[in-house]
Amino acid sequence: EPVKPSNFLRGIIERDLEAGTYDGRPFGGGPGDAAHHAAGQPDPARVRLRFPPEPNGYLHVGHAKSICLNFGLARDYGGVCHLRYDDTNPEKEEQEYVDAIAEMVQWLGWDWNAHGVSHQFYASDYFDFMYRAAEHLIERGLAYVDEQTPEQMRANRGDFTTPGTDSPFRSRTPEQNLARFREMRDGLHADGAMVLRAKIDMASPNINLRDPAIYRIRRATHHNTGDKWCIYPMYTYAHPIEDALERITHSICTLEFEDQRPFYDWLLERLAEGGLLAHPLPKQYEFGRLNLSYVITSKRKLKQLVDEQHVSGWDDPRMPTLAGMRRRGYTPASIRKMADDSGASKTNIWLDYSVLDIALRADLEDQAKRAMAVIDPVQLKLTNYAEVFGSQDHREPCGAPFHPHHPEWGQRAFSLGPELWIEREDFAEVPPKGYFRLFPGNKVRLKYGVIIECTGCEKDADGTLTAVTATVIPDTKSGTPGADSVKVKGTITWVGAHEAVACEMRLFDRLFTEPQPDAGGRDFLTVLNPKSKQVVRSYLEPALAAAQPDDKFQFERHGYFVADRLDHRADAPVFNRITGLKDGWTK
Ligand code: ATP
Ligand code: MG
Ligand code: MG
Repeated sequence: EPVKPSNFLRGIIERDLEAGTYDGRPFGGGPGDAAHHAAGQPDPARVRLRFPPEPNGYLHVGHAKSICLNFGLARDYGGVCHLRYDDTNPEKEEQEYVDAIAEMVQWLGWDWNAHGVSHQFYASDYFDFMYRAAEHLIERGLAYVDEQTPEQMRANRGDFTTPGTDSPFRSRTPEQNLARFREMRDGLHADGAMVLRAKIDMASPNINLRDPAIYRIRRATHHNTGDKWCIYPMYTYAHPIEDALERITHSICTLEFEDQRPFYDWLLERLAEGGLLAHPLPKQYEFGRLNLSYVITSKRKLKQLVDEQHVSGWDDPRMPTLAGMRRRGYTPASIRKMADDSGASKTNIWLDYSVLDIALRADLEDQAKRAMAVIDPVQLKLTNYAEVFGSQDHREPCGAPFHPHHPEWGQRAFSLGPELWIEREDFAEVPPKGYFRLFPGNKVRLKYGVIIECTGCEKDADGTLTAVTATVIPDTKSGTPGADSVKVKGTITWVGAHEAVACEMRLFDRLFTEPQPDAGGRDFLTVLNPKSKQVVRSYLEPALAAAQPDDKFQFERHGYFVADRLDHRADAPVFNRITGLKDGWTK
């Protein structure tokens, strides 16, 4: 096990483990683990963390950071990480998103099963408890129903320089509030007519403590509870309760929730005083978000790209969603490495997109089979082929290892014929300085094949290059004694026209032209890259006919490619470029 670099969250967990802060806790009778374990048994996990996505969209690369952080800490400290759907907002949540979230957490390599129990939970399973807790707060004079309009409430909240003003409804008795709250629950009032607010301090310097709303009326069908409720808890109220019921120890969230922490503690302390929750209570800790250059990580904005069809769907290979990244060909290991290497700190971080590509190359370098592909093809005619090999129909066998460091993987077989496909950029009628590839009179090696000498080219009426012509220099085949008899400065890749596998090649580039597409409130649609997807017809060496969807390869000189997991078929191959080669191609 490699030693993980330390970060402040590890420090906190190690301190709590040493102090035994959470040891020996009995299960509390809450709907979380207690549903699965005999009540009264001590908690077998020394730390409990959670990844709590709202199922209102697909997970993105920022979520991968949070997933790897929470599941990784649980693994490293003998704990458990819960997958919890934070589904308290009925309007935007859908089963499709629930399913996609579970699939992606598993794809990244994490498991919410521990101690023989699934730790997959829904916040909506706790609605009954949340309702009871709200009545409890009302009974203790710690919550009231406010019938001010939203505008009045906003105006009376004050701001950073002005204290808030008490609502005229703030002094109602617990009996009056309880009756009103039950009317809210029973559907006697219109959506938005009133809210339940915690009664804390309208003069607090922390605006989040100025009597935050904790329940609202909203007639909407919930994906899990249907039409049972017409009142729903606010996120800031629901989240601490979810954590406490699941006996979470360290509730790790992103920095923007720092100002919510005092309310988190206030609420859980009040409910513990009332005997609804047991100590030790979970604690919230904040870390900086992960942002990637040239990418947006907001589900709302990603949904807009999908809904307005700027991309083909949530799993478009240009999308920074995990579904998109998987389809593009990024591996779970490369995403985990990027997340791990970025650590956890108290500031939001921006990573350059290249960090992901470097991690991808490091992962695939040793794993991906090699192959030759001609991406932008032009024909090469070997005009003396029959003289050298006896007949136009002769096929001269060639071979190369599937992987230079894995001789045990064996050899791939392909062959020379009189007509080949080569890259259009490998011919220049008038060579620029330092150009060692094909131009009239120059000799190059066909990789793994023979040395040829360029004699000229053919063009159509528009002057577009249609074929390059060359002659074979006899007895120069790679691996034969004559291979070194002629010195050349250039080597080019090729595929025999007689056996080439034609494919649709999808070449992706950044989706945006700016490193921070939505910075400063800019409309990110104005900086969409019009050339982010290019589709070309390419040719692959014959071994690629056996490629299965999601198989990944290094195409020599070009980079890493994947057979598209949805569209690739043996009789209609489709490949995506994942990323180029770090060191480029020596020309
Ligand atoms: P979005 O704005 O995209 O909807 P969110 O934070 O509202 O993001 P949630 O579904 O609530 O989305 O996120 C689940 C968890 O993932 C939260 O704990 C959140 O803090 C974390 N998370 C989301 N984005 C990032 C990010 N860019 N970096 C690190 N953690 C993130
Ligand atoms: Mg959220
Ligand atoms: Mg959000």
